Amino acid sequence: MDRPSIEHILDLLTSAYGNRPWQPHDSPLNVLVQTILSQNTSDTNSTRAFRSLLATYPSWEDVASAEAHEIADAIKSGGLGEIKAGRIKLALREIRQKRGRLELDFLNELPLDEARDWLKQLPGVGTKTANCVFLFSLGRPALPVDTHIFRVARRLGLIDAKTTVEKAHQRLERLVPPDKVYPFHVLMIEHGRKVCKAPRPRCDDCVLSGLCQYFGQSRPLKRISLTRKRRCNKLFIGSEARAPLNLKHTGGTEMDKIAKAMEKAGFPSGDRYDLPSSTKTFPDGAHYRVEISGMETPKVLAATCDEAKKQGVPFHRSISVVRGASMLTREQLKEFAQIAYDNQVEVIMTPGPRPTWYTGRQVATPEGALSGLRMRGMDSVRHYLMDIERCIEIGFRGFLVWDEGVLSLLNTMKQNGDLPEDVVFKVSIFAGHANATGVKLVESLGADSCNPVADLTLPELASIRSVVNIPLDVHIQLWASMGGFNRIFETPEIARVASPCYFKMEPGPGLGMYMPWGMSEDTLAELGREKIRSIKNIIEIVGQVHPELKLSKQGPKDLRVPVPK
Ligand code: SF4
Repeated sequence: MDRPSIEHILDLLTSAYGNRPWQPHDSPLNVLVQTILSQNTSDTNSTRAFRSLLATYPSWEDVASAEAHEIADAIKSGGLGEIKAGRIKLALREIRQKRGRLELDFLNELPLDEARDWLKQLPGVGTKTANCVFLFSLGRPALPVDTHIFRVARRLGLIDAKTTVEKAHQRLERLVPPDKVYPFHVLMIEHGRKVCKAPRPRCDDCVLSGLCQYFGQSRPLKRISLTRKRRCNKLFIGSEARAPLNLKHTGGTEMDKIAKAMEKAGFPSGDRYDLPSSTKTFPDGAHYRVEISGMETPKVLAATCDEAKKQGVPFHRSISVVRGASMLTREQLKEFAQIAYDNQVEVIMTPGPRPTWYTGRQVATPEGALSGLRMRGMDSVRHYLMDIERCIEIGFRGFLVWDEGVLSLLNTMKQNGDLPEDVVFKVSIFAGHANATGVKLVESLGADSCNPVADLTLPELASIRSVVNIPLDVHIQLWASMGGFNRIFETPEIARVASPCYFKMEPGPGLGMYMPWGMSEDTLAELGREKIRSIKNIIEIVGQVHPELKLSKQGPKDLRVPVPK
């Protein structure tokens, strides 16, 4: 199916919703603030917040000089008050610093691309926000692509499935004639809100169905009524008519039912391509923290803590003795607990021998690896519990779990008073959870945080975040032996979408990393130092892109730092 023409789309949308001529809105600076306030909330709420801001402060100078928490109070009706207050304040300060006064009218004198680049230098201002300023305030042909436009454009086939939101801005702006940018923006949003909805598009009521690729691919011929076929007579011809149901979408009747059933059960019916900002944080208000694995001996932990101090970066949580705590003597464990306590680092201890180094080698075979990591028999569960008991005696309060059955048992033991109330359980990456249902399950079984598989996309992480409250532990680098990647430049968006989250780095070849007789202590200590240095880069990148996102200070109160006995 050919890409539909913009003119044709606009004709049909105008016939459905009416003409949408451009109206002068407000000054560029006012529109900038209004756009920041409109992020992740309804028009009604953001308008209310904007009015409240104007009523509280006589001028933008007063806003720029106010405390962020006071601004947050004035705009609280718009939601995410603290984050938006920080963005507004920073943007105003930057404008004043660069221009000497608080106004943006000069942007109308610059070529559009130059003006856009200038505005995007401001903290928290991306292409969409910048384009809102140019389109609404100055009537210039800059197209903001919001979640509705992005979704409808994808379904129509104006952009392909791999196009990112950033690229969509460029592609759609090239496709839409300059004098049509405003009606295209407004009508596509109206259509997305009323008809082409995210989970269940109302294709049967859609004026664009005759042009729409999604509609063409998701409906087999036999389901289309005669009336419908006449209305869409150009559509169902040849192979397109017999295209299989696209399970990724929810356009058809059966898919509608499945989507409804999933939502009724409390889960999103798909991944969250709209990438909402997470509204959840750690108890201290932070969005992200630092987790370092591979802390196999006291010497490795000490080296990593030293490096963290040297580099001036926090180190919140240590995933420890992943080879199995039974590899260390009681004295070594005591030393480990003391180092963690002295540095206020939470320790997640790994009890017992791991299934990979236990009897039963199914998981070590290529096919067997597909079966996941589970405790083998109740004897091994008892051994695991014995190691937990030993670590608790020494003062550790956090444990790694990779088996849902065992997690459920641990939680029951906690409720029965057979384990201390303040122990926490982290579900390991090796449990293999990769969607919202699995992470929700382990949360319901008592997990205090979950490390899903390492290479989930942002929409996949967003869909998980939409249903769970526990922190997500997200690998930013991963060993070559498990796929090998480095997504360091994604960290700002991961922190925004998935918070609260622990960022973790696993650089290097990895092979045999946790084999009890694997890497030397010195190699592990050097790796620990390297992870800390990578974390320093992450903090810098997140700070540049999303300065409003918070990183916990060292030793926040909710961590279960060991209490050496
Ligand atoms: S036919 Fe369906 S998917 Fe296509 S634009 Fe209309 S509502 Fe959206």
